[in-house]
Amino acid sequence: MTDVWHEPARDLPVIGRPDVLVVGAGSAGIAAAIAAGRRGADVMLVERYGFVGGLATFGLINLLLTLDDGCGAQVVAGLCQEFVDRLDARGDARFPSLDEWGSLDPAAVEHWRRWGLIWGAPPDVVRYSVAFDPESFCDVTFDLVRDAGVRLRMHSWCAHAYVRDNRIDAVVLESKKGREVVQPTIVIDATGDGDVIVAAGAPADAVSIPPWLWFRMGGIDEPPPGTFRTTAPGRVLVPFGPLDRRVDATDPDDLTAAELECRDRARIEVARLRESNHGAWLDDVAKLIGITESRRLVGDYVLEKSDGDRRFDDAIARTGHWTKREVVYDIPYRCLTTSTVSNLLASGRCISTSRYVHQATKEIPAAMATGEAAGAAATHALDAGGNARAVDVERVRRDLSAAGAIV
Ligand SMILES: Cc1cc2nc3c(=O)[nH]c(=O)nc-3n(C[C@H](O)[C@H](O)[C@H](O)COP(=O)(O)OP(=O)(O)OC[C@H]3O[C@@H](n4cnc5c(N)ncnc54)[C@H](O)[C@@H]3O)c2cc1C
Repeated sequence: MTDVWHEPARDLPVIGRPDVLVVGAGSAGIAAAIAAGRRGADVMLVERYGFVGGLATFGLINLLLTLDDGCGAQVVAGLCQEFVDRLDARGDARFPSLDEWGSLDPAAVEHWRRWGLIWGAPPDVVRYSVAFDPESFCDVTFDLVRDAGVRLRMHSWCAHAYVRDNRIDAVVLESKKGREVVQPTIVIDATGDGDVIVAAGAPADAVSIPPWLWFRMGGIDEPPPGTFRTTAPGRVLVPFGPLDRRVDATDPDDLTAAELECRDRARIEVARLRESNHGAWLDDVAKLIGITESRRLVGDYVLEKSDGDRRFDDAIARTGHWTKREVVYDIPYRCLTTSTVSNLLASGRCISTSRYVHQATKEIPAAMATGEAAGAAATHALDAGGNARAVDVERVRRDLSAAGAIV
């Protein structure tokens, strides 16, 4: 048995009692916070690092795959589309125009392949996917979070959640100020790893996976095979990885070893690219190691492969699949809720799906869509004392549609 040391009980300062606490400011968390803030809720958004966007920004996963069904129809819009519009207005996004979506034209396919937007089994097809600049994504986020009146608290880890009478009573944050408590009416887990779900004792699945470490090189005009153009001329994105072993992304020792191994391998690849591209340099390496999967809620419904193209009455978001055409998943509200904790909603990477469907729902557009849905639903749950399972889902669906989301 591991040695133990007894930590004495102590009183902790309560630093807020917001309507909605969103934990994690990745693509799902920022969408959740903005959606709830715009609906008039008092929202606090907590993030462990000093930046926002999670994998989408500091993981250098700068590709929105995808907003369509692979056949020319858009299936994700809402806040994700608003981000694309704002990034585009700043000159910091590249994507095929509407008339190209679903095209099999080899020249168009080849053009967008160089931007990292063509994936999946043949036949290759142009999708509505978007390459974007991560710093611009952060700035758009800061603007929208501020405009929505969200209280952003960075540099604070969610360390624990205490449950009483089937609901989260207190969320404990850890920072350089020590331990502090937030007592929200409702909590949205947007940590990617389901940290709140697990701390609150809700059922979760966990997997280990081989990690990636994407990086960017400067001084390369034409992207070599396997690298992608970016919005900055002369800079390419290198989707480096994966490591040839699995990693438990919730184990700091395993993660540390993986960071070092990935870094060592990436250095070799950087040297190779510099040799074949005279004058090239390493621009930056992802500050977040590339973890595609860790923990997922086992919620009121687990979305399965066989649910492809099935319509659900309680769908609060939809998504296509980045490697498959002609399949669209409706995401039921029940993938966000659990019978075990009434005031908890999941979003993004940790919603309740099978591993197969996770491949589709983990993608940034889908993560933003489930985040937006969780944020909207949380405001409806306020009328029910924060009981997420007591909301009128049809009202949430109408609310989301009115705001431009596709449900
Ligand atoms: C190698 C790789 C390639 C991918 N390729 C693509 C692609 O091309 N296109 C695409 O659309 N998607 C892609 N994805 C998937 C996509 O990037 C992620 O699934 C998506 O960004 C997840 O968003 P999220 O908000 O759910 O989680 P995350 O982005 O992981 O955000 C979680 C946030 O919560 C914070 N956090 C975590 N724990 C705590 C805590 N305890 N307290 C406080 N804060 C906390 C984190 O710091 C982070 O900011 C890829 C993923 C990987 C790893």
